[in-house]
Amino acid sequence: MKVVVTGGAGFMGSHLTEALTKKGDVVVFDNFSSGKQEFLKKIDVGIIQGDIRNFKEVREASREANVVYHFAADPDVKRSSSEPLENFRVDVSGSLNVLEACRLNDVKQIVFASSSVVYGNAKMPTPEEAPIAPISNYGAAKAASEFYVSTYSQLYGIKATVLRYANIIGPRLTHGVIYDFYCKLKKNPKQLEILGDGNQKKSYLHVTDAVNATLMAAQKTGKYSLFNVGSEETITVKKISRLVVSTLGLKDVQYKYTGGRTGWPGDVPIMLLSIEKIKSLGWKPKFSIKESILDTLDWLKTHFR
Ligand code: NAD
Repeated sequence: MKVVVTGGAGFMGSHLTEALTKKGDVVVFDNFSSGKQEFLKKIDVGIIQGDIRNFKEVREASREANVVYHFAADPDVKRSSSEPLENFRVDVSGSLNVLEACRLNDVKQIVFASSSVVYGNAKMPTPEEAPIAPISNYGAAKAASEFYVSTYSQLYGIKATVLRYANIIGPRLTHGVIYDFYCKLKKNPKQLEILGDGNQKKSYLHVTDAVNATLMAAQKTGKYSLFNVGSEETITVKKISRLVVSTLGLKDVQYKYTGGRTGWPGDVPIMLLSIEKIKSLGWKPKFSIKESILDTLDWLKTHFR
């Protein structure tokens, strides 16, 4: 059983790869733009340095694969606003390259990392049936890719599993609000800039829980399945900032807010997914949001001193 993980050197991809190596042969396909070799150094895995924008490379890497986990993407919502064409090339064209390679190589299953951002500003907790209404180019790219995954499944019979993740955090995190606060406070422990008014309220899930949900969802029978993956709790950005500051043992930090309901163009300020569907498979989160944040900070403290 050969499994390919695109983006397998990244934050989520490396945890997923680690879990998959316990079950069979795994090949990571990654251009190392944000992924890191060191995330894979303790894992027995084949590594192909390549780019999903290059169809030939993807086709070659996925030859004889049974399953492809497609996790490579540029997940930066802000950059998708300032560089929409480049975001399209990676997050839409790249995904289509992966799907087309799967079709031509007769790959039996694709597991696609989508996102809560496809819902935009939705009612909460947001179920899988909620309308697709992204408010960022990154969200539009994920939605477009999901539609291609669906048509490839229907037209060519490829089994497809789509996961719409909430914010995922934990060891090896290299982006997002906790990482951002940590880096800013390392640079200047006296002041913390918070994007928006700090009242953005979202759900966060530990990467171990996300990987377990992914593996369970991938086992589900049927040609096409789609699941939200998140936690049942939310936390405000303001509360996260206080938790980061107190965990780092800092005092008298001056908080500076850039203001406005959102942190950046395309930001969805309030997000909580309904996870009833994935829970019906027997999965539930093991970590609370607080435990997940503290675990993330523990890792950052030992790796970015
Ligand atoms: P990440 O940036 O750590 O991982 C992405 C990986 O893809 C990296 O290893 C990077 O080097 C690789 N990559 C980027 N462009 C590539 C290209 N053109 N060709 C080949 N490899 C390329 O991000 P992550 O947080 O681990 O996210 C993994 C996936 O999950 C992404 O598809 C992301 O959109 C999705 N997702 C993440 C979250 C989250 O909160 N982390 C939430 C929802 C969805």
